[in-house]
Parts: sequence; C-alpha cells; structure tokens
Amino acid sequence: MIETQVLIVGGGPVGLVLALELEQRGVSTVLVERNPTMPRCPRADVASGRSLEHFRRLGIADEIRAHAMPVDHPMDVVWCSRLAEWELARFPYPTPGKARGILGSRNDGSQPLEPRAKIPQLALEKVLTGALERPGTRATPLCGWELDSFEEDADGVHVTIRSVASGDLRPVRTQYLVGCDGAESATRKGLGLGLEIASTRDLLRGMRGGSLRALASLGRAVLRGERRPDGRLYLVHFRSGERAFFDRFGAAWRIQSPVGGTLIAENGIDTWTLHVPLQAGADASTLDPKQIVSRALGRELACEILAAQEWTPRLAVAESYGRGRVWLAGDAAHQMVPPGSHGLNTGIGDAVDLGWKLAAVLQGWGGDGLLPSYEAERRPIGRRNRDASAGHLSIRMQIAAARTPLVHEDSPRGEAARDRLRKRILELGNLEDEAVGIDLGDRYDGSPAVAGETGEPPAWSMASYVASTWPGSRPPSVILEDGRGIFDLFGPGFTLVRFADLPVERFVEAARLRGMPLWVVDVRDRNATRIYERGLVLIRPDQHVAWRGDETPDTALEIVDRVRGAGS
Ligand SMILES: Cc1cc2nc3c(=O)[nH]c(=O)nc-3n(C[C@H](O)[C@H](O)[C@H](O)COP(=O)(O)OP(=O)(O)OC[C@H]3O[C@@H](n4cnc5c(N)ncnc54)[C@H](O)[C@@H]3O)c2cc1C
Repeated sequence: MIETQVLIVGGGPVGLVLALELEQRGVSTVLVERNPTMPRCPRADVASGRSLEHFRRLGIADEIRAHAMPVDHPMDVVWCSRLAEWELARFPYPTPGKARGILGSRNDGSQPLEPRAKIPQLALEKVLTGALERPGTRATPLCGWELDSFEEDADGVHVTIRSVASGDLRPVRTQYLVGCDGAESATRKGLGLGLEIASTRDLLRGMRGGSLRALASLGRAVLRGERRPDGRLYLVHFRSGERAFFDRFGAAWRIQSPVGGTLIAENGIDTWTLHVPLQAGADASTLDPKQIVSRALGRELACEILAAQEWTPRLAVAESYGRGRVWLAGDAAHQMVPPGSHGLNTGIGDAVDLGWKLAAVLQGWGGDGLLPSYEAERRPIGRRNRDASAGHLSIRMQIAAARTPLVHEDSPRGEAARDRLRKRILELGNLEDEAVGIDLGDRYDGSPAVAGETGEPPAWSMASYVASTWPGSRPPSVILEDGRGIFDLFGPGFTLVRFADLPVERFVEAARLRGMPLWVVDVRDRNATRIYERGLVLIRPDQHVAWRGDETPDTALEIVDRVRGAGS
C-alpha cells in the first residue's frame, strides 16, 4: 500500500504547482497522472504577472522566462479580415524586455514584481515537472496511473488507482486527496458535484449593447444556409520555416480574424498554433491538419504538424470546491474559454491558496475552518473569472457580428467596410489582454481566514488595479531603496511587516502559542511605508494580507486564531 499525506490526481499545471507548493512546505505527495508521457499540445499560452510572482517564490521564475517568448519579440495583437487578408486593427503591447523596464520605472505599487510571460503551457509544464523531479524532493510522480475510486473516513481517504496500460489496481492511503484532474474530473464526479454552466443565452445577455446585433447576425447567417460553429475548436500546432510569410503584418503575438481563427506565435522563431472553430457536424478525426492550416492562411505552406486536436471550451464552475478531505482545483473546479488565459492562472491561484492551507492543517497549526476557507476565497474568484472570460468572448462575438462580407472585397467599398470594422474593433477594445484587475486584484473579502475591517474596500474593476493592503488583498509590490523587492522578504509562513518601531511581542507570543510560523520583518523605506498604509501588515504564506493596523492590539491571539482558520 502506498501511503502519503496528499494524493494529487492530475499532473497538469495546477497539479504540478500544488505539488511544488506542498514540497516547499515539507509535505509528502503522490501525484497520479493518467498520461504516460508529457502532452504535445501547447494549450494556454500566458502566465500572468501574479502567477510569475508565485513562480518567483517557488524559485522557478527565471527558468520559466528562459522558455518564454524572447525579450525582444513584439507582443502586438492584430485583427485582420482573414488570417490571409488585410490588417484591420492592432493593439500594441511592449516586448517582454520593455515590459520589465516599465515595471522598474513605476515603483508606486501598481505593478507586479514580475511581468507576465508568454509561454506555451507545454513548456511551462516541462519546467514545473523538472522542478518537481529535482534530487531530494519528496514528491512521487506516478505517470500512467489514473484515479479509479475513493472513499473518505475520519482519518484519511482510501484511494484506488488503476494502471492505464495493464488495468492493475493499487490501493493508496492518503490524508487528503486533491482532484486537479481537469474538465472531466473523476474526483469531482466522485464527490457527486455538478457544474454551473454558463449558457450561450447568458453570454449574449452579457454583451455590452451588442447582443441584438450579434443575434441578428447569427440569424442572417442561418438564413444564408451557413453552418454555424458549435462551440468546438480545432487546434493545430505546427512548425514552419516560412517566417517572412508569418511576419506579413509585422511580428506579433496573436493574429485573429472575425471569421474565426486565431494564430498564436509560440516561441517567436518557428512554431505556431492555429485555433479554428469547428462547424456543426464536422468530424475532427477526418480533418487533415495541413489542409486546415493552408485554408486558414490562404496558401500551401511548408510546415511540420506537431499536434492537432479538437476540444470544447466551456464556461463553468463546480457547485462546490470540495469538502472534508477531498478538494478540487484548476479546471476540475472551473472552466473558461481561451480569451484572457484566465483558466490557467485561476488554477495556479487555487493551487497556491490550497497548498499552504493543507500544509498548515497537516502540521497541526491550521484550524478546522482553514480548508473550508479555500472554497470561500477561491470559488467567488472562479465565478468572477469565468464571467470575465465570457465577457472577453462576447467582445470577440460582437466583432464577428459586425463583420460584413464586404470587408473581404478588394475595392473602395471594401476598404470603407474595413474602416468601419476597424473603428468598431478599437471601440470595443482588447480587455482580454489588459485585465489587470483579474491579474493582480484577487481579494478575499469576508473570508473566515482574514481579519477584515469595517469601512469601504477599494473599488475593484477588471481594467484597473488599486494598490492597497486592505485585508484579503494581494499586497502591493514595491522595490525598496536597497534594490530588494518587498515580496522577497516575506517568509514561507506568516510575515509581520513592521514599518516603524512598534512592539509586536503579543503577536509573536500568540503565534508561538499556536505553533503558527511567523517572521517579523523590519522595513524602513518611505515609499513602501506610504504604499502599505499601516505600521504593521500581516502577510499570509500565499502573499495575501491577513490583517493590518498601526499597533499590536490586545486581541492579537484572536487575530492569529482567525487567520489560521480557528476563529469564530
Ligand atoms: C486541447 C486544449 C487546448 C486548450 N487551449 C487553451 C488556450 O488556447 N488558452 C487557454 O487559456 N486555455 C486553453 N486550454 C485550457 C487550459 O489548458 C486549462 O485551463 C489548464 O490546462 C488547466 O490546468 P489543470 O491542471 O487544471 O488541468 P489540465 O491541464 O486539464 O490537467 C489535468 C490533468 O489530469 C489528468 N487526468 C485527468 N483525469 C485523470 C484521472 N482520472 N486520473 C489521473 N489523471 C487524470 C490529465 O491527463 C491531465 O494531465 C486548453 C485546453 C485543452 C484541453
């Protein structure tokens, strides 16, 4: 019988990040992954600034950057009438190198410590797997094994895993089970949990003023006898040496068309991924990926197909994120559509939140309310990000709805139609790549593991981030006068950051009494003191604000109990 503290089902990015979090906190894990080898499809392609801050804490940010888009590669997003036709509009974004420079020049707490990284999920998973396989790690990866069944009792979970190759069954005894097993999660199904799925009707209703136009356009297409996309996407990952052809709009990160079709530059050199919508009734197994590429790009292209796959993005959140000793994270708990890349980054946020809480409970200092606080904190974020993802999709649908056949015509009236569409695209904007409120603005209002305060919290919007230490927020990132990032001073447990000579013994004693790891860090820096708003700010192991104040209160023990999930 295999025995472990935490059994993680699923070795995608979320399962891997959870394993690394637990590894860093001294917890033993077994990670069961159905696939015997690494996947071949790149899938999601952006790790957000916040995810990179976590990767920096885990010691792998530099390695991730080494596999990400080169520092000088343009990151523009280009709309064109068809992938092989006219450029319509361009949203310019700084190269990764320039993006880092911008962060360094604005030290007002409004920027992440690390800029986002454009990295294919495939490459990200390779770095995460490599980190987990370093000599001396406690984690045991079991590839080629899948979850068969599980049963929870008072002290742990009896799990049966099955070999994909032979069908052999093996028992595992674990104290906690976490399903990071993707959209079709067997763990979620084993818990009997359904999904709240957002329907197309919800999506259209959510469109900003464009729903009628979009509906009318869909109706016209049906009347013309055009077959409609049915929600499935077909992804072709390929390599080609015809760089000049791809650069005809100037080097870019993404080129997308209102006809359907998105071309993503994967490594800035020779590798691309094309996503096209599948029409109702199309059988993906009969498609020739080379032909799909040629058709989308308007000519035969010398290319090597690396992978091709059909998939169905969904907008869904699980009814619950788990209970007792069995929890869900990542796509098992929520699913989003590609615009915004929120699915991957929301999942990484889940793994970070759940990781320290599992460790705290296993090490005896986490209270009974700590694991339930995972759901209280992360499910609202999952719903918010699913709805944001739906909003980005609705923008793309409005652009598709605004297209008329004239935009494909090489004539003055075609040019006029393209001009109209260009204006509409620029008017609708590109929030999917600018949603800084989603990236940096996670805040756990009302969480049972945060010592909240009364008053009005800072306003939240998808398009902006307000630097704040309001309890539950991600604290602002500040570079101190000595050149160190304030985040780099935070310890693996709780950190009490002290900006003035204030007594903190009551906090230290309360933490000692409860066995809660607490570091006191002194910062004497005018800029940071102003941005952090209070003389004392208590930071959680996941780098969220647990409490803040200008002096240690008499109730320090109550605060410690609250933030370790043992409060009332
Ligand atoms: C083909 C495809 C293309 C995508 N493209 C994009 C994109 O362009 N942009 C974007 O933002 N997002 C995209 N996504 C979504 C994105 O990949 C996910 O949001 C992200 O992978 C979530 O990570 P995860 O670890 O939660 O789940 P996953 O990456 O799905 O990992 C789950 C893992 O669990 C394993 N597993 C499943 N069941 C079991 C079991 N019973 N036992 C053991 N192991 C099991 C699976 O093999 C898999 O490795 C795509 C997804 C797919 C499938």
